[in-house]
Amino acid sequence: MIDYKKLYDGQLKVWDDFRNRVSQLDTVELRKFDMGTYSIYAQYNPARAVSSGAKLDAKTIANRKCFLCECNRPAIQEGIQLDEKFTLLVNPFPILKGHMTIPIKDHEEQQILPHIGSFITFCKELPSHTLLYNGPKCGASAPDHMHFQAVLKGQLPFEEELKTVEVRVLSENKEGTMEEFLNYGRKCIHIKSTKATLTQSYFEQLYKQLQMLAGTDDEPLMNLFGFYEGSEWHLFVFPRKKHRPTQFFEEGEKYKMISPGAIDVAGILVLPRRNDFDELTKDVIEDVFSQVCY
Ligand SMILES: [Zn+2]
Repeated sequence: MIDYKKLYDGQLKVWDDFRNRVSQLDTVELRKFDMGTYSIYAQYNPARAVSSGAKLDAKTIANRKCFLCECNRPAIQEGIQLDEKFTLLVNPFPILKGHMTIPIKDHEEQQILPHIGSFITFCKELPSHTLLYNGPKCGASAPDHMHFQAVLKGQLPFEEELKTVEVRVLSENKEGTMEEFLNYGRKCIHIKSTKATLTQSYFEQLYKQLQMLAGTDDEPLMNLFGFYEGSEWHLFVFPRKKHRPTQFFEEGEKYKMISPGAIDVAGILVLPRRNDFDELTKDVIEDVFSQVCY
């Protein structure tokens, strides 16, 4: 087990900007939307404007200093080596409590398939947390540097909703299940298993199916979550059609800074602008999900 708390508390002590942003989380404004069979929360978080509004085209990415490369990290930032490749760090721009970033050592592209085994291993080694992965074209603010994130368990709506949501079983054997959430406003596939190998093989099967669905040989757009609880792995895959909804590309009054990554499709819409937060409605939520998810 990894002692994330020692790292986290140590960084809180010495890193003023980080501590200030963490303390702002305690007073962050939330709105809850009851969508019938599920809930969505909106979070007003002005500190996320840089990330939500960021240009992510290849040229912009190539011209900026990669904030996940060790040489560009603030000198005050410390980490815990999880294995020979990945390091656990605090996320200096947290959205949720206990928010961590887990970058790979070398500057290499964001892709899940070669690293799903590490993701599954880290779920068990960080039992206090839910891990997440943003596809390079659907939420990752560093699509050029492979990384996972993690947030303390108990904050994401699907962690509770999985107990009550209606499901359709896609595949089942005595060591695990792959099922689809129904009436959930967006497609979510839930994999659970007592075996790491079966968890991985279900994920790989799903990956191929999503490639076919999207008609591509590239990585299918997705946001992925995972945690380990009660001797079982749980993975949640939210397949994506695209990153940003039409509202993001409007001008003037029609513009909304809605840029959904994993945490947004998991049920916490992060809105950096006051207007977008105050004016959000159920119709807008449903419209955004129908555009960016299946
Ligand atoms: Zn990098």
